[in-house]
Amino acid sequence: MLKKKIKKLLIGTNNKGKLREIRDLLPEYIKIVSPSYYNLKSPHENGKTFKDNSLIKSKYFSRKTNLVCLADDSGLEIDVLNKKPGIYSARWGGRKSDFNKAIKRVYRELNKKDKNWKNKKIKARFICALSICYLDKKIACTIGKVEGHISEKPKGKNGFGYDPIFIPKNKTKTFGEMKPSLKYRLDHRYKAFMKIKKFL
Ligand code: IMP
Repeated sequence: MLKKKIKKLLIGTNNKGKLREIRDLLPEYIKIVSPSYYNLKSPHENGKTFKDNSLIKSKYFSRKTNLVCLADDSGLEIDVLNKKPGIYSARWGGRKSDFNKAIKRVYRELNKKDKNWKNKKIKARFICALSICYLDKKIACTIGKVEGHISEKPKGKNGFGYDPIFIPKNKTKTFGEMKPSLKYRLDHRYKAFMKIKKFL
């Protein structure tokens, strides 16, 4: 039997950058709402993995609104920093989600680890766990990754978060220097989305 197509979907994030990106990926017939419309703050993310935290968000927002919810949890892993900031990527920006602060912390930690890091390729990847929580509480979850390295200094004003310091593999520009339309087609969220879209 064919599954009914979803017509209204809650995007379980209060991060404007993510919301913009996910909205651009969805077909136009799906009406999108965000938690701020319901005055809902994000739940406490106390999972140990991107997947755990994605499920915490999609289940929570779906229960609170009685809507099907698509949520993501994502972040940047830097190999020489033992995969930090990882699931703490948003928290490195402090209470006000100050991305400049988070980027400064990355450079501070890299300098602490190895004074000569700028002469090496600092391997990193963005990871995204996307999940859908349906009204019957069933769940679909997929993971997307994009490999790359850390730029010597922040470059570009596009995007959000760590975009100005991440150069994807086989490219020379940071995500922050790329047009959003190009970044969207290369990144972790797009890869996770391509796997989950059949469940919408
Ligand atoms: P959370 O998934 O809401 O816990 O936040 C993930 C954090 O990872 C964001 O606040 C950003 O700092 C970072 N992040 C996730 N995806 C991206 C991206 O596509 N570009 C830049 N930073 C990102």
